[in-house]
Amino acid sequence: MSLSLDLTSPDARAALACPVAAEKPPLIGLTRPELAEALVAAGIVPEKQAKMRASQLWHWLYVRGVSDFSLMFNISKDLRTALDRHFSIARPEVVEEQNSTDGTRKWLFRFPPRGAGRPVEIETVYIPEEGRGTLCISSQVGCTLTCSFCHTGTQKLVRNLTAEEILAQLLSARDRLGDFPDRDTPAGAIVPTEGRKVSNIVMMGMGEPLYNFEAVKKALLIASDGDGLALSKRRITLSTSGVVPEIYRTGEEIGVMLAISLHATNDDLRDLLVPINKKFPLKDLIAACRAYPGLSNARRITFEYVMLKDVNDSLDDARALVALLKGIPAKINLIPFNPWPGTNYQCSDWETIERFADFINNAGYASPIRTPRGRDILAACGQLKSESERMRKVDRLALEAMMIAGHGEA
Ligand code: SAH
Ligand code: SF4
Repeated sequence: MSLSLDLTSPDARAALACPVAAEKPPLIGLTRPELAEALVAAGIVPEKQAKMRASQLWHWLYVRGVSDFSLMFNISKDLRTALDRHFSIARPEVVEEQNSTDGTRKWLFRFPPRGAGRPVEIETVYIPEEGRGTLCISSQVGCTLTCSFCHTGTQKLVRNLTAEEILAQLLSARDRLGDFPDRDTPAGAIVPTEGRKVSNIVMMGMGEPLYNFEAVKKALLIASDGDGLALSKRRITLSTSGVVPEIYRTGEEIGVMLAISLHATNDDLRDLLVPINKKFPLKDLIAACRAYPGLSNARRITFEYVMLKDVNDSLDDARALVALLKGIPAKINLIPFNPWPGTNYQCSDWETIERFADFINNAGYASPIRTPRGRDILAACGQLKSESERMRKVDRLALEAMMIAGHGEA
């Protein structure tokens, strides 16, 4: 058997280099008290100064978005050097950046290994719209769930992302979009929220955010902290396929807007489309929605409904949808199905989608049809699937190559 491996390719080099632990612990993703504690534990800040230093760092990291200690010009050079020796605030590697003809942008980020793991790659998508810009953030590498119409669902879960990695997607996207204040802005200056490129975030990328609750919670509380990234919780939406036991906590402990991937109005069909329904059927899901903390006409739940030709797109389905959601302050978001290589589903015809939307509108629901964005770069809903899978193959090849060369361990 002959095996050739291109050692000049970054994938192969990364594969050969791993597993290597990330050397310095990250500061991004720590709460303020954790940040203060880390500075003291590293022996570089006296306890009585810790709170003040943590606030100073918080401003640099989250208001100014710096990723290099040397830019923190109101911190002494000695302390900056000590910080750099102990901690990392580096951004992930940008493996690929794609721009769609419609202005949508997609990044493939690579994060270093955690412990004995391997590097992972995830995708983040930016969707500019009139008067706002939404960043679609991933919570896991792959997904444990297997929704039959979702591309991510065909990729096994590799691992949960850490709070740092979830936030890094927001920070890196803002870097790339030029969405942080420039270097001349005085330290401590408050940056206005108007005119921001990333005005909204949605946890609708890869993965099921409620199966990574603690990290998602930590990241979103930092993203909404008024003295830092300062995104209003009303501009943050978490989408779940229906992890019922965590829904109440999402409202109570995080307080962001909720979106439910509904897609079907009876258990038989939903079991097929969103298999988690077998564990948490519609009755329990709808009850959890009714009990969502803070639910009101001003804070509605978004129900996502993917339009699948001849599967869930009839007027009877629309009627059943309206009946199911009766009494819940709701918005219904119709998502034209985004095809991906290998799927058996088709998107409903445009007239069918419009007829469905009209029925729902007439029943009193706002029901925007989500215009597919970034289809040309596979950035639309459900099309995300990172290269991690391919990398695993590269890893294997790399390992085989090392064994053949006599460097590997069996
Ligand atoms: N795992 C979470 C969040 C990520 S998916 C969830 O399922 O809610 C974001 C949204 O895109 C979900 O509503 C999902 O059902 C939908 N989606 C997945 N694949 C899709 C596809 N191929 N076309 C259109 N929407 C899709
Ligand atoms: Fe996972 Fe959401 Fe895709 Fe279902 S739709 S497989 S929960 S990412």
